[in-house]
Amino acid sequence: MAYIIAEPCIGTKDTACVDVCPVDCIHPPKGRTYDDGRPTFDEVPQLYIDPTECIDCGACVPVCPVTAIFALDDLPEKWHAYIETNKNYVDGGKFQPDKYQKVSDPQRPIPQPEPMPQPAPEPEPAPEPAPPTPQSDSNLRDPPRHDTLHA
Ligand code: SF4
Ligand code: SF4
Repeated sequence: MAYIIAEPCIGTKDTACVDVCPVDCIHPPKGRTYDDGRPTFDEVPQLYIDPTECIDCGACVPVCPVTAIFALDDLPEKWHAYIETNKNYVDGGKFQPDKYQKVSDPQRPIPQPEPMPQPAPEPEPAPEPAPPTPQSDSNLRDPPRHDTLHA
């Protein structure tokens, strides 16, 4: 079991938990840079607990001003995505950039590639005017004549 930092940390990020953690497993603390290129404190929306380093002491829980830290068994169902978020940021002391990008973090949606622009459709060609009707013999168009014989 490990402890998980969930959504309430976003926007707070005051690092009170970092100061009390006896094994320095909450990342990234202010001012620290990493050789593996992981995001630093100013670049992350929240802090993360490395589940392989956490010793489950619980010291971080009461100092969090927004109740963002939970033992795994106590984590509310709605925040279960943060299990992966914490694990993928740093797993065993190693940043997982590919996994971190795939995490479903509601506060940080994964950027999607822009769709390829499609060329504008060609305008429909104007309909050709109907060809003129060939002139026919006017006699053919005359209605048949019915001569009436008058007595
Ligand atoms: S439970 Fe203890 S070891 Fe784990 S993150 Fe909190 S303070 Fe650190
Ligand atoms: S104490 Fe709570 S709000 Fe502050 S950084 Fe830690 S988890 Fe985030």
